[in-house]
Amino acid sequence: MGKLEITKNDLKKRFAEYNDLYFQNKLKMPLFKFIMAKKPYGSCHVDKKRCEIWISKYVKWTDETLKNVLIHEMIHQYVYEVLHGCKYTLFPHGIRFYYVRWRLNNKYDLGIDKIPI
Ligand SMILES: [Zn+2]
Repeated sequence: MGKLEITKNDLKKRFAEYNDLYFQNKLKMPLFKFIMAKKPYGSCHVDKKRCEIWISKYVKWTDETLKNVLIHEMIHQYVYEVLHGCKYTLFPHGIRFYYVRWRLNNKYDLGIDKIPI
């Protein structure tokens, strides 16, 4: 798989697809921003007013790795918006995050956080 040049539109399309496939369309469309560095690969900033998902512009994304990272960030959003979890900035990967990730990996064989980027 070659390097993907990603646009915000691609991210929106993927988000809508994964929201439908894995999150029962429970997530609100976030605002997408690009991180102008290789790391972090992605981050999620969510509170009561808005959700922003930031994705690195400088990673050599493949279809698989971009899917992996975007779903990881969507799990943060799901934990906050649907499970009323702790704010991302306080507990980035709490018990609810691990539970949802385990459930998705188990049910759909997604390998979230298991593939090298
Ligand atoms: Zn995370």
